[in-house]
Formats: sequence, C-alpha cells, structure tokens
Amino acid sequence: MTNNDTKPATDFIRSTINAHNQSGRFGGRVHTRFPPEPNGYLHIGHAFSICLNFGIAEEYGGLCNLRFDDTNPAKEEQEYIDAIIEDVRWLGFDWDDRLYFASDYFEQLYDYAVTLIKDGKAYVDQLSPDEIREYRGTLTEPGKNSPYRDRPIEENLALFEKMRNGEFGEGEAVLRTKIDMASPNINMRDPVMYRVLHTPHPRTGDAWCIYPMYDFAHGQSDSIERVTHSLCSLEYADHRPLYDWYLDALGIFHPQQIEFARLNLTYTVMSKRKLRRLVEEGHVSGWDDPRMPTISGHRRRGYTPEAIRNFCADVGVSRSNGVVEIEMLEYHLRQHLNKTSPRVMAVLNPLRVVIENYPDDLTENMEAVNNPEDEAAGTRKVPFSKVLYIERDDFMEDPPKKFYRLAPGREVRLRYAYFITCTDVIKDDDGNIIELRCTYDPETRGGTAPDGRRVKATLHWVSAEHALKAEARLYDRLFTKPNPEDDSEQDFTAFINPDSLEVRDPIYVEPSLADAQPGDRYQFERIGYFAVDPDSTGDKLVFNRTVGLRDSWAKLQKQKK
Ligand code: ATP
Ligand code: MG
Repeated sequence: MTNNDTKPATDFIRSTINAHNQSGRFGGRVHTRFPPEPNGYLHIGHAFSICLNFGIAEEYGGLCNLRFDDTNPAKEEQEYIDAIIEDVRWLGFDWDDRLYFASDYFEQLYDYAVTLIKDGKAYVDQLSPDEIREYRGTLTEPGKNSPYRDRPIEENLALFEKMRNGEFGEGEAVLRTKIDMASPNINMRDPVMYRVLHTPHPRTGDAWCIYPMYDFAHGQSDSIERVTHSLCSLEYADHRPLYDWYLDALGIFHPQQIEFARLNLTYTVMSKRKLRRLVEEGHVSGWDDPRMPTISGHRRRGYTPEAIRNFCADVGVSRSNGVVEIEMLEYHLRQHLNKTSPRVMAVLNPLRVVIENYPDDLTENMEAVNNPEDEAAGTRKVPFSKVLYIERDDFMEDPPKKFYRLAPGREVRLRYAYFITCTDVIKDDDGNIIELRCTYDPETRGGTAPDGRRVKATLHWVSAEHALKAEARLYDRLFTKPNPEDDSEQDFTAFINPDSLEVRDPIYVEPSLADAQPGDRYQFERIGYFAVDPDSTGDKLVFNRTVGLRDSWAKLQKQKK
C-alpha cells in the first residue's frame, strides 16, 4: 500500500488521518509513536495504545517510533526501560532503528526554552511551590500574575542558566511560560516548563539538574521526530491547546494530537501507581505475577500476543471512557489457544484407579490426537497401565440424576484407551475414598465397543507409573468486584481476592511433557489452558492456569439479551 491510499475509516482517528491524506497536510505521511514513561511495567492498557499506534502506522504504510518519555528521573529506572522494550517486541511490533528517548533531546529542548525566553514568552519564577499553587487559582477563579513575571529578558536568561548550572535548590526556581493566568484552561496559566531536580537520570547521569515537564517535552519530541499523528488518551485533551501553543510559538513542525478513551477492564486496576502498590505491598509476587494485568504478567500466565492484539482490535477506539468486560479478553485468548495449543492429559485432583483385570506388567502406548483443530499437529503415544489416576471430581459414590461420569457399577470411556466399569470403592478409616477398583473391556481399545454399546462420559487419565509429578497454580480474579476503584470509603486493596491463587501439588501430567520449557502452552484436556512457568526446574514442572475452557463471555452476552 502506498502512503496516499485512503482506507475506509473505521473510527474517528482513521477518518482524521484520511482527511489529512486528502488535504495533503502531512504530504500523505503517517508517522506515530508509542511514548511510555519508564516508571513501571506496561499493562494491558498500554498494549491497547501500542496496537493502535503501531497498527495504524502499518495500515497506512507509515512508521511508528518507540520513544521513552523519560523526563522524571525521580521515578524512572533502567529495569523498566528494558522490560518495556521486551514487552513491545513480544507483542509483535518493530521500530527498526527508531528507538528514541526524550532525554536525547534535552539539549535541544533547552535551546527551545531559551528561544521562548528571548521572545519574551518565558520567565524564571521564584515563588515557592505553595505560592505557585495558590497563585494558579481554581476552576472557578482566575489565577494571578507572579511578581517575577515581568522580569527583563536578560535577567531570565541569566537565571535560567544558573538553574542549569545547579545554583538553585529544588523548589527555589522554575521556568514558566508566559501565557494567561486568567485562562479558563488551567494548563494555560503560565505552565511550568522546567523544574530543578538534583537527581541523576538513568541515561544522562549528572549532566542535568533541571528537567523539562511533560508538556514542554512531549510535543517538541514529536516535532523533532516528525511524528504526524500524536495519539494519546483523553486526559490529555485539555493539554492540547498547550501542545499546539508551544509548537506555534517555536514555529517548528506541527504534529496533530488526537485523543482516544483509555482501555479499562473489569476486575482490574490499570494505573502503574496502583500496580506498583500491589507489588510493593506484597499482594502479588512481582510485576510479572500471572495475576497482574501487566504485559509481562499476561505473558507468564500463558497469553499469546495474538490474543491480546485481537482483543485490542475488537475493542476498537472510542471517544468516551467505558469499561470492557474481562471476559472479552478471555474470549480472544481461548479462541487463539484453541487453535494453537497441543492437548495433553493431566490430573489436577488425583484419585487412584486400579484396573483389576489388566495385566500387572503391561504398558500399552495409546495414540492420542495432539490438536483436533490442527491436523498437522499429528499424534503422540500416551502410556496406559494397570494403575491410573483420574480426576476426583469424575467419580461420585452416590451420583445425582445428571451426573454421567464414573460411579459404582457404571461404565465410562477412558479417552484414547478403554471402557472401564467401577466395581469397588476403597476407603480409609475416616471414610475418605482413596482408591477405585475397576475392570476394563479389552474389546474396547481405542474407545469404541464392537457391539456398539455406548457410554455417557469420557474421562481423562494418566498412568500412575509413567506420569510426571508437577505443580499447578490456579488463578482466579485478583479482585472480588468488577470495579475495585469505585468505593469512596475503601482503598482498592480492600477488594483483593484472598483466593486468587490456589496451588495444587502434586498434580500428575502425562510423560510427553518431560521436555516442556518455560513459556510452552498446552490444553489440559477437559480442564483448561496451562503454560509452563519459569519457576520450573529440571525436577519439577510448574504450570500456570492461563484460563479455563468454559466460555464465560458467550454466557455473559446471552444473559444481556
Ligand atoms: P498509567 O497511569 O497507567 O501509569 P500513563 O498514561 O501514565 O499510564 P505512560 O507510560 O505515560 O502511562 O503511557 C504511555 C502511553 O500509553 C500514553 O500515550 C498513554 O496515553 C497510553 N496509555 C496508558 N494507559 C492506557 C490505557 N489504559 N488505555 C489506552 N492507552 C493507555
Ligand atoms: Mg504518565
């Protein structure tokens, strides 16, 4: 596709771009950027922005930069920079050699600031931070001018240089833009451009002790990179007049800022500040805890990049804030895992079964289908022997009417193997069932009876002698209510689900998993999708339950009708 092609607009951002392409505003160019601040790990909301920015560039044959908005060294760290790069790449996007940092532009931004001072459009203010706040006014009252506002240009230039040279302490001086203290938009009331921070920066070290504010850095960085469309979330709409003001005042290349609604999800908190609290207060094991809505948490849990990208595309861009149901994300996850995950048998809550008429020392290798959705995935052998484990839930001693699985005297199918009939139930002294005795019908190998008789249930199983012991981590929602943030009295941490992690150890998995590697994904037949956790060792695999099999999204949609 060439840059000038016009795509049918599916949303307001694309129709704006189409209009620009038609009017020739950017010469048909489409150039976006994803601008994370490296003050935490990326979450699924960032994934939405990544998919949007990189996706639009791709669609229009344009480019998308990865630019770190690293203007606040007090909160930013190299660890976060590395994690963000890994996450964007994992999602499947590529910025070629266009990895940028706002800190690379510090010298240029400083020069821009000097230009504004020389034009009489910026001044050094020495009000205290409290006074600045007080002078700013409120939503209903105008602000008032600082007594330092009309300093001569020469004095401002000298003072700004002193700021840069470290001659002021934090809070003693700021550089402000001279706009309008009575503006109805508070962002336009002489916004601060530079503040003093005696904090080393992860990239520039001790080179600077003054740092530009977001508003002064962002648009100018976009302009330097010749970004055409600066897509950001709605809370920046009130900043757009300032974004435009700086670019106009400096007379430099002028990108178009366009705002869209943030992604919000039920049962999820999305701000980095709150996610950091979950980590620091020990509610989760780290930023990549599989219960976290971070990209790294999703990856560890077993999400695929495709599932996240398909979800983001399905949500689409909107101009008004809403909350998306987490079941929709899980729907896309199941869709993709169903197509791509090899099936295996694993027993999470084992009950021992002895097949009394099966030869003691025989092992048969049963042929099992790897993925019914993908013929090319082929088959594998699963060993069958006299002593097996089945799922405890698949047996009831005294079954109610609709329970069709195993019960005393009843016949069921063991998947890929034989029909078995339960003949006896063995209990311990306390009356707990510890073992079942069964018989098998050798004529039913492969799972069909020559006489055509049918059974109502097919159970999964593993051979006790051959199975591998493993650990399963079963996750539930991290919060107990859909919007943990909407309570005016209680902090969101009050709604953390105490049962969000259940560990099952040991579980038994079929021996074909012996070489499974961290990150590998499987469907445990009849149970759910699981991914191998990096905590796995050579001796023991650890599996994270990615998501169960049942489609709760379809159910939710049905309920709404
Ligand atoms: P947070 O409050 O979670 O820290 P942020 O906006 O401060 O979010 P940044 O690192 O500054 O985080 O965000 C980088 C980009 O991602 C910005 O363009 C921002 O608009 C976008 N973004 C952040 N959160 C969301 C979200 N929930 N949905 C869509 N886009 C988002
Ligand atoms: Mg931010």
